[in-house]
Amino acid sequence: MKPISIVFATNNSNKIEEVQAQLPSHIKLLSLEDIGCQVDLPETQLTIMGNAIQKATYIKENFNMDCFADDTGLEVYSLDGAPGVYSARYAGPQKNTIDNINKLLTRLKDTKERSAQFKTVIALHWKGQLSIFEGLCEGQITTQCQGTGGFGYDPIFRPLGYNQTFAEIERVEKNRIGHRGKAVEQLISFLNTIK
Ligand code: IMP
Repeated sequence: MKPISIVFATNNSNKIEEVQAQLPSHIKLLSLEDIGCQVDLPETQLTIMGNAIQKATYIKENFNMDCFADDTGLEVYSLDGAPGVYSARYAGPQKNTIDNINKLLTRLKDTKERSAQFKTVIALHWKGQLSIFEGLCEGQITTQCQGTGGFGYDPIFRPLGYNQTFAEIERVEKNRIGHRGKAVEQLISFLNTIK
């Protein structure tokens, strides 16, 4: 089969390896570094989907290459969906995970309604067509950190049907039930149809 290259607009090698491992061998993923893109990609939109599209479109327009980008946020229902698109910089531009978690726990202090969802959106530009893949994972925000695994808000997010937080759940299991895993699964089904 004809070799195909697609840019994954990230320099996170874990993400690239994870998706590459699930693709047929004729599809090769390129990182931002691989294509010589050294800028911080713009993420100035007001929605998670908007940011995913903005990043993928930046690469398409500036490098003229087929490309996909992902963006993730944690949406707490009793906070009208915050931190949402601002999840990375919820407690400030330093993008510090502990500060973000502490801010969220303080905001939810004394709040019984702690339902939330993680949302990942992947935007793909392929042969002039834009496709969107979305993965959701519902759960509850705990009252304190539990577990040492994972990253970001994982220690305070308990997915629906589990007694443990994402930081206490095996990575394989998190990928199976999690927001990013679900979005990636749809992307891979699409890419697998490319001849
Ligand atoms: P990004 O879109 O992957 O850069 O993530 C945006 C923000 O959400 C960052 O603060 C991440 O730490 C957080 N985040 C993304 N994915 C997850 C996850 O799977 N678990 C916990 N936090 C996450």
